[in-house]
Amino acid sequence: MQTTISLKLKPSEAADDRSIRQYIAQASGQPAESITGYFIRKSSIDARSRQQVWINLSVQAFIQEPFHQRPVSRIHFSDVSQATRQVIIVGAGPAGLFAALKLIEAGIRPVILERGKDVRARRRDLAAMNKEGIVNPESNYCFGEGGAGTYSDGKLYTRSTKRGDINRILNLLHQFGADERILYEAHPHIGTNKLPHIMIAMRELIRETGGQFLFEQKVTGFLPDGNRLKGVVTADGNTWLGDAVILATGHSARDIFSLLHQQHILIESKPFALGVRIEHPQALIDSIQYHCPIRDPFLPPASYGLVEQVHGRGVFSFCMCPGGIIAPAATGKDEIVVNGWSPSKRNNPYANSGMVVQVDLADAIPYLRKTAPALLSGQTAPEKDPLILLHLQQTVEQIAFRAGGGLLVAPAQRMADFSDLKQSADLPDCSYLPGIGSVPLDQVLPDFVYRSLSDGFRAFGKKMRGYFTNEAVVVATESRTSSPVRIPRDADGLHHPQFCNFYPCGEGAGYAGGIVSAAMDGERVADAICAVLQQSPDSR
Ligand SMILES: Cc1cc2nc3c(=O)[nH]c(=O)nc-3n(C[C@H](O)[C@H](O)[C@H](O)COP(=O)(O)OP(=O)(O)OC[C@H]3O[C@@H](n4cnc5c(N)ncnc54)[C@H](O)[C@@H]3O)c2cc1C
Repeated sequence: MQTTISLKLKPSEAADDRSIRQYIAQASGQPAESITGYFIRKSSIDARSRQQVWINLSVQAFIQEPFHQRPVSRIHFSDVSQATRQVIIVGAGPAGLFAALKLIEAGIRPVILERGKDVRARRRDLAAMNKEGIVNPESNYCFGEGGAGTYSDGKLYTRSTKRGDINRILNLLHQFGADERILYEAHPHIGTNKLPHIMIAMRELIRETGGQFLFEQKVTGFLPDGNRLKGVVTADGNTWLGDAVILATGHSARDIFSLLHQQHILIESKPFALGVRIEHPQALIDSIQYHCPIRDPFLPPASYGLVEQVHGRGVFSFCMCPGGIIAPAATGKDEIVVNGWSPSKRNNPYANSGMVVQVDLADAIPYLRKTAPALLSGQTAPEKDPLILLHLQQTVEQIAFRAGGGLLVAPAQRMADFSDLKQSADLPDCSYLPGIGSVPLDQVLPDFVYRSLSDGFRAFGKKMRGYFTNEAVVVATESRTSSPVRIPRDADGLHHPQFCNFYPCGEGAGYAGGIVSAAMDGERVADAICAVLQQSPDSR
């Protein structure tokens, strides 16, 4: 007999095979010896009770019948080396990669053009950022194989449940080497140390099946031909032609937004979020979330999610990294951008999270008039400039760079000092490797962002007692949570309104946020392309 059983266990019990079997026996009323095996279908942590943190498990138990491992579907990829159809994919982040895999499955050859380097070569450029404060604008935490997600925490949680098949994405990541746990944990994550191996496995599969995967190929031009795009041009002057073009360049490819605008290809400004990254001692977050002075060794480092409406704006935590590190995520030489990552074990002594505020179109002109009037001069209707919010985003990053004093030193302030408008006399240890400098952040952030965060922090301190503390450090700026530009597309066909075979996709186009949702969006546009190509004769 097979049966699904729900168990509520103490953390030590949930980590112990013998206790799980005993509880299955108890719940099913069968002797422990008759249980031939089980696998976990779902696992989550319930820390609501102040007395005891519980682990909720749903297990598939096999009783008096042979045990079978979890059924895992493996996707078969066709050989596309001789395919007559070819699709150009610009960008090898999750959106571009999952689009490529979907095309291969359907017998279409992808040609991936990636401006950055492969994961191994990319590592040297990340070291130069962390140790010397030097940014390579083509190879950094945002650009290179696997995109912005490669050196991340690899959190695989998404709220965009209706936009695609999350389980398919998780299954594929598992097929390419991710741990089986991602298939059943409520908040799965992979970790920076493991993600590059998964990216390499995907690249090898794409090449082995006949797809092309090219690095250091930066796209610098689009080739319009009536209502179609013939292809793209790369910085070395090469032309790449295809039946369709997928643009999956992420939200940091500012040159792509400018290029589209210069080539009169429609783009629009889009509200985005901007703020800071905040870092607490992990032990403090553990004690708040698990209601105990020291974390049970069978529990993972605790995380949190916070949201509050302040002065009519949403203030929310974003991309929380337990046991993580604050990373320099700039793509240009004169800007400070921070983000966060964690290794798979999340075993660093810090807990960091983005803390951001919604920024709307109406904020742009008043802010730029004060801080960077030159960007507005000569424009008759700056509010119609699709790059206006990008200008705001970049201006804040540049102000932060100057405030930090160069070499990627980030301006920072203790948390209570931030809200009390006091410059911090000293700063706590921080995981951000290029270093932090004490700066009053109200002089770095737009006023409306500063005020919302300041009051938001106090409100969060009431929700999570102990959170609002000078033990925490606030680091500016967290400015790349989402794209300040949208590249529009037809709601049904998913192609750009001006070109029937041009498919903006992923986070940079404004249709995704995070690894899984970008991957799902890549699959959606690939499906749309397959539907068109399978019906029409070869047009090249
Ligand atoms: C440090 C860090 C940590 C993160 N942590 C998480 C996390 O834990 N969980 C999560 O869900 N999300 C996380 N994110 C966000 C996540 O990485 C992105 O949401 C996701 O990668 C977006 O996917 P994408 O494919 O749309 O774009 P991207 O991943 O940004 O990929 C775009 C690719 O296009 C390439 N490109 C750009 N311009 C050109 C050009 N002109 N020619 C050729 N190629 C070009 C870039 O080099 C890049 O490789 C993190 C991001 C960072 C930076």
